[in-house]
Amino acid sequence: MINIVIFGPPGAGKGTQAKILADKYHLVHLSTGDILRAEIAARTESGLRAKEIMDRGELVSDQIVIDMLASKLESDARGYIFDGFPRTIAQAEALDELMDTYNTSITLMLSLEVPEIELITRIFIRGKDSGRPDDRNEDVIRNRIVQYNRKTAPLIGYYSGQGKHYSITGTGGIEEINQRLCQAIESGIHA
Ligand code: ADP
Repeated sequence: MINIVIFGPPGAGKGTQAKILADKYHLVHLSTGDILRAEIAARTESGLRAKEIMDRGELVSDQIVIDMLASKLESDARGYIFDGFPRTIAQAEALDELMDTYNTSITLMLSLEVPEIELITRIFIRGKDSGRPDDRNEDVIRNRIVQYNRKTAPLIGYYSGQGKHYSITGTGGIEEINQRLCQAIESGIHA
């Protein structure tokens, strides 16, 4: 079983690449951003509470996100690609425990590196047709990057400590970036 964490700041291309990798390696793609947006669309209580937080570019509470993610795990999956999760050390610890209960573990963490100026441009362009309110306001976009640097970037140390962190250049064409990710996966699997 291969379990991948695809990692990086907002706008790094996690979702785009996760979809391609999920198809190629037959993984279940779990995006906490997508799960939260589905909860908002369904107007559930936790979705509506999360919406206000997401619209400000802050992080939704660990417990809500961990519970949502746990409910999506399947006993017969061939592996997962986690996209947008974990985003805090507490979430990473919870994920390790969840994987353990399914007798598996995170195989590797692929970290997409993209300069901040390019992130902002990419998110703005996406915001023109994504329909996401958090992609349309520059202050919110900047706050998401601040939150990433403060709360999420420390996960690089967490996964490096476990020998699972791979740094990937996240600029260039989608196909080119995908090839870099596949190379890291092949070397990670056989490490
Ligand atoms: P991006 O990576 O471009 O910011 P996402 O769809 O991954 O897009 O996340 C959108 C928003 O959803 C985040 O800004 C945050 O408010 C919320 N969110 C998504 N995943 C998590 C998570 N694991 N923990 C807390 N909040 C999350």
